[in-house]
Amino acid sequence: MSEYHEAIVVGGGPAGLTAGLYLMRAGIDALLLEKVLPGGAPLNTGHVENYPGFPEGISGKELMDKFAAHAKAFGLPVKEFAEVESLSRESDRYVIKTSEGLYESMGIIVATGTEPKKMGIPGEAEFVGRGVSYCATCDGMFFKNLDVAVIGGGDAAIEEGLTLANIVRKVYIIHRRDALRAQKILQDRAFKNSKIEFLWNKRPVEIAGKNQVENIIVEDTETKVRSSIDVSGVFLYIGSVPNTGFLQGLAELDYGGFAITDEDLATKTEGLFVAGDVRRKTLRQIATAVGDGALAAVNLERYILGKKP
Ligand code: NAP
Repeated sequence: MSEYHEAIVVGGGPAGLTAGLYLMRAGIDALLLEKVLPGGAPLNTGHVENYPGFPEGISGKELMDKFAAHAKAFGLPVKEFAEVESLSRESDRYVIKTSEGLYESMGIIVATGTEPKKMGIPGEAEFVGRGVSYCATCDGMFFKNLDVAVIGGGDAAIEEGLTLANIVRKVYIIHRRDALRAQKILQDRAFKNSKIEFLWNKRPVEIAGKNQVENIIVEDTETKVRSSIDVSGVFLYIGSVPNTGFLQGLAELDYGGFAITDEDLATKTEGLFVAGDVRRKTLRQIATAVGDGALAAVNLERYILGKKP
């Protein structure tokens, strides 16, 4: 037995919750499927200060609780802990197999976001939960007054390095080049922060320890000389990989696996739209995810109305 809805939104981050809100306000019978709990990537962000309307900033959790409450206030049903296992198009319907059962819909918006990219160096997988983390907001408190390393030079590494600097004794930001990719305002703050030390042109090669992380071994990208830094934690922010496995064959994917859409966020399969960080785009922010969610919902609404007798 399957459950039918006119529209199904997959993913409960900023893009998915916005799409759900817009669909409900348009009078579409929609359901949102979320693999864990609503909120998405901002749940891992301690302090959001580039989402308009909150001049003092707001915690990622608080902001996403507001998004979810807003969508639910307009009646959006959310099925939690429903992870999509497969998606197919059969005659004029989408069939979505999830860990919580089978769903069918006329149209679909995929807003499944990304997962942290892994480095694949020795010790990384072994020490997850014992010093290796991909979420400073979740795990930072375990390292109070200890020394930690942050890997990466993008927005996430610098933002979370700054979050960690409020908690820990010292943060080493280890970057493979001699210039950061992060926004200038974040760079300026990190350079001024006395608890942050930058290790430039260094490539992590191993995370080591006995029961817990005790040190990280890095290699200088120019001299190839290796050195060891004593740290109790290693936070990896080296980018993200999109959750698009189940889109194979239904949407074009780029070399990184991000879904390619047209300017209406449509894919090569009719009635299938993609919104948020999971699609190929130049800027991944809450603000752009919200815009994607709204646009995908309006275009899906048009598609559904066009199909109705
Ligand atoms: P990102 O922008 O792709 O940056 C990844 C960083 O990791 C880069 O500095 C990269 O070095 C480095 N890196 C990649 N592979 C590596 C490897 N194998 N070894 C060592 N270093 C490696 O990823 P992100 O920071 O996670 O951000 C993802 C997206 O979310 C971005 O679009 C970002 O703007 C957005 N975001 C925005 C905010 C905000 O607006 N406040 C916060 C977080 C994330 P290179 O620079 O040398 O390539």
